[in-house]
Amino acid sequence: MNRCTRAVIYKDNLKYNLEQIKKYVEPGVKICVAVKADSYGHNAVLTSRLAQEMGIEFLAVATVDEAIELRSNNITAQILLLSLCTPEEMTDLFKYKITPVVFGKDFLEILIQKSNEFYKGDEKFDVHLAVDTGMGRIGCYPEEAQEQAILINNSKHLRLGGMITHFAVSDSLKKENQDFTRRQFEAFKSAVQSVKDKGINPGICSCGASAALLNNTDMHFEMVRPGIITYGYYPDEITKNHLLSVHKEFDIKPVLSFETKVVAIRHFPAGKTISYGCTYECKEDTDIAVLPVGYADGLLRRFSPGLEVTINGKNYPVRGRICMDQCMVEIGNNNPDVKLWDKAVIFGPSESGALNDAEVLAKIGNTISYEVLTSISKRVEKIIV
Ligand SMILES: *Cc1c(COP(=O)(O)O)cnc(C)c1O
Repeated sequence: MNRCTRAVIYKDNLKYNLEQIKKYVEPGVKICVAVKADSYGHNAVLTSRLAQEMGIEFLAVATVDEAIELRSNNITAQILLLSLCTPEEMTDLFKYKITPVVFGKDFLEILIQKSNEFYKGDEKFDVHLAVDTGMGRIGCYPEEAQEQAILINNSKHLRLGGMITHFAVSDSLKKENQDFTRRQFEAFKSAVQSVKDKGINPGICSCGASAALLNNTDMHFEMVRPGIITYGYYPDEITKNHLLSVHKEFDIKPVLSFETKVVAIRHFPAGKTISYGCTYECKEDTDIAVLPVGYADGLLRRFSPGLEVTINGKNYPVRGRICMDQCMVEIGNNNPDVKLWDKAVIFGPSESGALNDAEVLAKIGNTISYEVLTSISKRVEKIIV
């Protein structure tokens, strides 16, 4: 594929971030890198391969298909399935050795029945019991954990390989939110203890994603589950400056650049309107660069007005509405710095020539870097450098 609109993955930055994470957590704490949603748009196979080479033992996905893609590309690390699957997908869990997050009698009874059909000898299949300590998503209530752990371990082929919970507001530094996280943590600890009380090994317990990994270092348990920091962005209020203020060294770099090229330069007179809805009117005579990138590529419509694109080290504003496949950028009259076919970078690490990162776009679009990254669509080829 030769399309100029593409995403470039800076492998060294990915490696750098993973090294930073490894250095940050205590030795012995396992790391489960979230590679769901094609590694937040960064190519799950590449990310997983690199993580595996660096000794990362666990990868986390959201769908069975994402896990199968990794297995088909010789990824042998343990794969944790973070979202629930349906009965139709359960046999693939056994076949591809995917470790599911589980809870609930209905779900467990079907999984046990399917495992009895699949396994012939006395093989054991690990599952991680999800406990809802306050996220309000999946998981049993903490007081149900003991009963469900017993159900798992009394089955012929399932084994409790771990317990997992997820924080709802660990990315906020507000006292009430940090207190909420603390209560979630305590509820999880007592759920784990209740399982131990029955003589059952709770396995590898984990609760922290990027935010708690960085900010609540006493909550790492046996494993942490970093996602966004792997790709070079901080979760909400946990910033590098905040970490330095609490005397913790940590540094990450954006990994992906989203870029295209100037495919036309048009001269527009004052008063000419640009794009659908005629929402922008040229204030004076000016030149407009046309870029072949639009919302179908993941350049969300709500980024305009506000978004600026970097061409040869300078930022230029997008004018008018972003179309499905194209957008227009004002470069000013006879600008010698912008030529036909020049590279235009929407966001990325400094190596890419970008002046923006995904955080800048997130602010403009009233969203978070996670959504900016995962919005980059299938039509955009990922190039690894
Ligand atoms: C996505 C996800 C993570 C990773 O979250 P980040 O905020 O990107 O670090 C960890 N655990 C679970 C259960 C998740 O769904």
